[in-house]
Amino acid sequence: KSGFVAIVGRPNVGKSTLMNQIIGQKIAIMSDKPQTTRNKIHGVYTSEEMQIVFLDTPGIHKRQSKLGDFMNSTALNTLGEVEAVLFLVDAAEGLGGGDRFIAERLKEVRTPVILVLNKIDRIVPEQLLPMIDEYRKLHDFAEIIPISAKMGNNVDTLLEQISKYL
Ligand code: GDP
Ligand code: MG
Repeated sequence: KSGFVAIVGRPNVGKSTLMNQIIGQKIAIMSDKPQTTRNKIHGVYTSEEMQIVFLDTPGIHKRQSKLGDFMNSTALNTLGEVEAVLFLVDAAEGLGGGDRFIAERLKEVRTPVILVLNKIDRIVPEQLLPMIDEYRKLHDFAEIIPISAKMGNNVDTLLEQISKYL
């Protein structure tokens, strides 16, 4: 199995940390160089079962500039062409405006979106279900996976879930 997965999420939710956790397990390409004008490859994960190319999707972030309050079409194209989108959020901070902005953009594509609730090492278990209910209102997520990218908790489950869409 192989395919492309786009990672979206506002700054500081843990996208780079997750990539380090996933790619760190297996030797692979790690690059911050723009590979094309519209995408950066975060990393390539290779195991016996699958290969996943993770793409950064810069255009989806809400920007402060006047130009930036709309979705650029190249980012949308990317999201429409990948096998799955990982939407990373910060469980310790909870649902915020930055998440809502991205969730709105995700409605414009039909690609399955996997909601990844990161930093669960910073919450108590009782917080998890109410939080999931809140996020569910934003989008019809294909999967919802709580993880700690930093500690590595549940990252194996995330990879298994991604493989369903490759
Ligand atoms: P990015 O901007 O989305 O790439 O976020 P980073 O990967 O740079 O992470 C932002 C900050 O969150 C860093 O200080 C990370 O160490 C921290 N962080 C990322 N994942 C976790 C996690 O699972 N738990 C905790 N406690 N901190 C995390
Ligand atoms: Mg980063």
